[in-house]
Amino acid sequence: MELKRMTENYDITIVGGGPVGMFAAFYAGMHNAKTQVIESLTELGGQVNALYPEKTILDVAGFPGIKGRDLIAGQAEQLKQFPLTIKTGEAVTNVTANADGFLVTTPKGTSQTRAVIVAVGNGAFAPRKLNVAGADAFTGQQLFYSVRDLEKFRGKRVMVAGGGDAAIDQALMLESVAQSVTLLHRRAQFRGLAHMVDLLEASTVNVKTPYLIRDLQATTDGALDVTLKPVGSTAEMAHQVVDDLVVSYGFTADHSALAAWDVDLAEERRLIAVDRQMTTSVPGIYAIGDGATYPGKSPLIAIGYGEAPIAVQAIMTTYFPDRRGPVHSTSITPKP
Ligand SMILES: Cc1cc2nc3c(=O)[nH]c(=O)nc-3n(C[C@H](O)[C@H](O)[C@H](O)COP(=O)(O)OP(=O)(O)OC[C@H]3O[C@@H](n4cnc5c(N)ncnc54)[C@H](O)[C@@H]3O)c2cc1C
Repeated sequence: MELKRMTENYDITIVGGGPVGMFAAFYAGMHNAKTQVIESLTELGGQVNALYPEKTILDVAGFPGIKGRDLIAGQAEQLKQFPLTIKTGEAVTNVTANADGFLVTTPKGTSQTRAVIVAVGNGAFAPRKLNVAGADAFTGQQLFYSVRDLEKFRGKRVMVAGGGDAAIDQALMLESVAQSVTLLHRRAQFRGLAHMVDLLEASTVNVKTPYLIRDLQATTDGALDVTLKPVGSTAEMAHQVVDDLVVSYGFTADHSALAAWDVDLAEERRLIAVDRQMTTSVPGIYAIGDGATYPGKSPLIAIGYGEAPIAVQAIMTTYFPDRRGPVHSTSITPKP
């Protein structure tokens, strides 16, 4: 039996699973390219999903108005039409040129690819962590930075910390399964959209402001004792015992990851310079979306959606001329 893990081999590797990387993956699928998408966050959707899932986007063709979350859900559905490999929770830490294209490295391993499409937006996203001594020991057990599986919180006493749309959204989602939900914010006012705040007010979520988390301790019966400091007052510290804590403090974007890659992509103002075919200074590496720049570029979803087919077609023409695939989507057999 072959025990050694074979190196995974792809035609196209898309670094970044934001809306633009997702559309590039769909388009690569249409061209029968063996494709992987590698995304540092645990979910696809980039800025749209992470920063404004509840915002109504007005400037995507075909939708008079669509919520960020729904746009990404639609794209995820579109991706299911093709056998693509989607890796989430994995940041690309290096790309090295070799005779067959590039070796792509993440903390989980390496894979070989003929061409790379860099769709990294403003950089690798990571959730902003709770800055409390000892917090790491609770991470993944009772401290979470996203709600991936709602069922895990069924019947639990849950605290959500944060003041933006995502925090309110998570508190409202948890309300449907949890025994109780407390939403903690360091300011008296929430910065979420007005209609989200209205939904919050109409809910059973217990809103606690203005408080900051100062300490976490395990209780003897396995719960979490959260020490809360009142903000702007000398009042005594408060305590609340919960089963789980979900911290929703937003995201940091790390652009430095790209600078550490062995391939040296020419940059202009921290954006990757590309030509009309979305080719970077390194042949075989293309860049699209918010992370790419050229004269006249605007960082918009619609513009990135246009760049994705240009990059995929350039790759197919250059590296796989024998299987350029359909030019129009109608040449694919539609699903019943
Ligand atoms: C508040 C707000 C509102 C907006 N409203 C609109 C609007 O109404 N209309 C509009 O057109 N645009 C809008 N935009 C801009 C729009 O969101 C961006 O143009 C779009 O998200 C760009 O998509 P992208 O896929 O290029 O990049 P991103 O959405 O930034 O996605 C890039 C992804 O790559 C991942 N990544 C980065 N580095 C790595 C790595 N090394 N390894 C693995 N993964 C990596 C990141 O984690 C991220 O998920 C808005 C932006 C913001 C912040």
